[in-house]
Amino acid sequence: MEKISSSPLRLTDKENASGRVELSKKEWKAILSDEVFRITREKGTEKPFSGKYVESRQRGVYTCACCGNDLFSSAAKFESRTGWPSFYAPISEQNVREKLDLGLGLLRTEVLCARCDAHLGHVFNDGPEPASLRYCMNSLALDFCPANGETSRKRAEAKPVEMK
Ligand code: FE
Repeated sequence: MEKISSSPLRLTDKENASGRVELSKKEWKAILSDEVFRITREKGTEKPFSGKYVESRQRGVYTCACCGNDLFSSAAKFESRTGWPSFYAPISEQNVREKLDLGLGLLRTEVLCARCDAHLGHVFNDGPEPASLRYCMNSLALDFCPANGETSRKRAEAKPVEMK
């Protein structure tokens, strides 16, 4: 049995019929730390090698720091030497959304949480074979739930988003 940690936050109250969480910037600001808000709601990027999950080798699931949606399995994590936690695939293609990003004068693909639209990072084409994908994520956009450990309440309450 997974334990559920306590938190006053109930994102389920903010869910629409498809399971998506839609909060205003003001509401997100009230419930996220300043640094998580800056990364996930304002498309920020943490400094390389600064994040807590860069070196992590623990088994478990990385979830959305905003809404608890499952995003990446530790089994898909690899050492990219970029300074950001890197994965070769999301836990499910339904759980993330990709969007063209022309910011900074670069052509990149932004990766967002499919449930709450949190900015997570970008995906590049220089990952390991066979898919050659590198999901370059911000540690601050992620929470970690260790295998057989305590799961976050956000994660326990997160329901899958309906496919369109
Ligand atoms: Fe999310």
